[in-house]
Amino acid sequence: MLVSEPAFVFFLGVLTPIANKVELFGGFLDFILPPLCLGCGQFDDSPVDVCSACLEAIDTYDNPICLNCFEPVTSGPVCRNCQDRSFPLFAFGDYTAPLKDVVIQFKFKGITSPASLFADLIVDKFEVNLAAQSADFLVPIPLHPSRQARRGYNQAALLAERLSERLNLPVDNDIIERVKRRRPQARLDLRHRARNINSVFEAIPTEAKNTGLILVDDVVTSGATMLEARHTLEKAGHRVVAAVAIAHGR
Ligand SMILES: [Zn+2]
Ligand SMILES: [Zn+2]
Repeated sequence: MLVSEPAFVFFLGVLTPIANKVELFGGFLDFILPPLCLGCGQFDDSPVDVCSACLEAIDTYDNPICLNCFEPVTSGPVCRNCQDRSFPLFAFGDYTAPLKDVVIQFKFKGITSPASLFADLIVDKFEVNLAAQSADFLVPIPLHPSRQARRGYNQAALLAERLSERLNLPVDNDIIERVKRRRPQARLDLRHRARNINSVFEAIPTEAKNTGLILVDDVVTSGATMLEARHTLEKAGHRVVAAVAIAHGR
């Protein structure tokens, strides 16, 4: 190395806040700078942008959680409490630090590498149970077009693309759209969340009926978004059999 290590770490410390602000140059800076861990911000030479200490510190879920009754689904592909209304959510971990910090950078700071990392971890953990849902398509929860244009990507769609490769299940981006903008869920209390989500989605007319769908999003908190998307798709004649997210928490 041409410069001493302390000088190099100082150089990283100066450039990183700038890199976070100037997303357009993010790709370029990734090229010349080794990445910092998205969880703790420390220098990290792992290829996945999250250091092994942070990956180990994530509070992971051993079982899917049914979004219809919020109980863990401990045996078989279907929630025993809910049967036909079963709605298992396959989430990798709890929405607290360090996973929360990683997801926030994935969602808001133009850092897209967590899509592949967590799609792989979710499939490694839940592959058999996901396959048993007998789905036909993965469906990312859409952003409103104006929000997607501003952000430049839909984080749920990136996650779905990698899940698609691993699960050998196609993605359908043309089955549901977001028609109404709403305030971010995180800023509302629980009572207002359900109202806020009402009629946010519309199903896009299609010839196919009774299609089995797995919904994909980055984070599931109250479950209101997933339940509203399921309601919209079921009214249009589809079956929503499960959901996948990187993180789940309230
Ligand atoms: Zn870390
Ligand atoms: Zn249930």
